Amino acid sequence: MIRVLGSIALILISALAHAQWLNQRIISELSKTRSLIPHLEKFQELGIKENGSQALEHTGNWLFSELESYGIRTVYDSFLHPSGKWHRNIIAEIPGSGSDLIVLGAHYDTRNGPGVDDNGSGISVLLEIARIMRTLSPSSSIRFMCFSAEEDGFWGSKHVVESITAADASRLKFMFNLDQIGGFKGAADSDKIFCERDEGNTTPLNDQKSARITDTLARMFELYTTLTPVRSRAYSSDYIPFEAAGFAITGLYESTDNPYTHSIRDSLTYLDSGYLNEALKGCLAAMMHFAGVPGVLSNRFEHSSNVHYYAVENGMIRLGDQKISIFNSVGIEQPVIRNGRSLTVSHLTPGWYWLWLNDGNETRLGRFHVIGN
Ligand SMILES: [Zn+2]
Repeated sequence: MIRVLGSIALILISALAHAQWLNQRIISELSKTRSLIPHLEKFQELGIKENGSQALEHTGNWLFSELESYGIRTVYDSFLHPSGKWHRNIIAEIPGSGSDLIVLGAHYDTRNGPGVDDNGSGISVLLEIARIMRTLSPSSSIRFMCFSAEEDGFWGSKHVVESITAADASRLKFMFNLDQIGGFKGAADSDKIFCERDEGNTTPLNDQKSARITDTLARMFELYTTLTPVRSRAYSSDYIPFEAAGFAITGLYESTDNPYTHSIRDSLTYLDSGYLNEALKGCLAAMMHFAGVPGVLSNRFEHSSNVHYYAVENGMIRLGDQKISIFNSVGIEQPVIRNGRSLTVSHLTPGWYWLWLNDGNETRLGRFHVIGN
């Protein structure tokens, strides 16, 4: 009888080792996302949002009231366009419990058409992420930026970068840009998405950080969406002024360029709403990870100095009675198997792991390494 139980336990453990163990907190929030179609219909209805147009002004008003309706403090950030016309970025911030800051940005001006893909797609995803993240108590503050005047020279994002305070500049972890992520119906590469990293541009100093962030973004798409991430180069959108100022950047872009952008046909008729929905899921999963939502390990801990390293002996770590969570290197929660006061880790695939230990009043952070057999 004992032998039978033993082999059942072995089967269970090997099944766990092979299962893709996803973070339940992320899965649960992904299931709460709403359809983006109402946002896209509204965006289309607002018309051609060019420099000096009423459509541009009305869209700014709509974005302001939408973000404010989620209970997020929202402001207009006005700037003078080289044409002599005043423009407004719409900026909303969810305060975090920690000190760092992430910018999620998308432009809302369009050219020659309603711009449902370029860039109603990015705007609709930004709105939905703001609505959901508002309820999640992230560690990082998240500043949502809807930029104006991207199409003729990134004037909105340039203005933000030029007017950033020294305090905010030192808190800013990176800027994440969404531009044209709706795909179009019948696209050949409708199962792929470009995850864009900084490859040179103005300064090479921020490239490595951008590559690391973009790798994590790509991993989130692999884990939580049906889209295959493809690494690509960041260029020609609102992340570029941030890059030029030395900040780390990342971004998303559809894998097949929509042939109807900057035309009257950039409308809902040609948008691939299933593709856009997958883009939303990948963005939300990534933002929950990057911003350190409780229960989702954030890579901010990778810079924490107060980490205890635990030794693995015979597939076990000796611990006390603390509450334990285990996360892999991209923050995906792993099954916890206890053996009395020890923790079994032999079922985990080789690599580095994080431990969260809580003894009732204090949370400690640990790391351990599982070596392959
Ligand atoms: Zn665009």
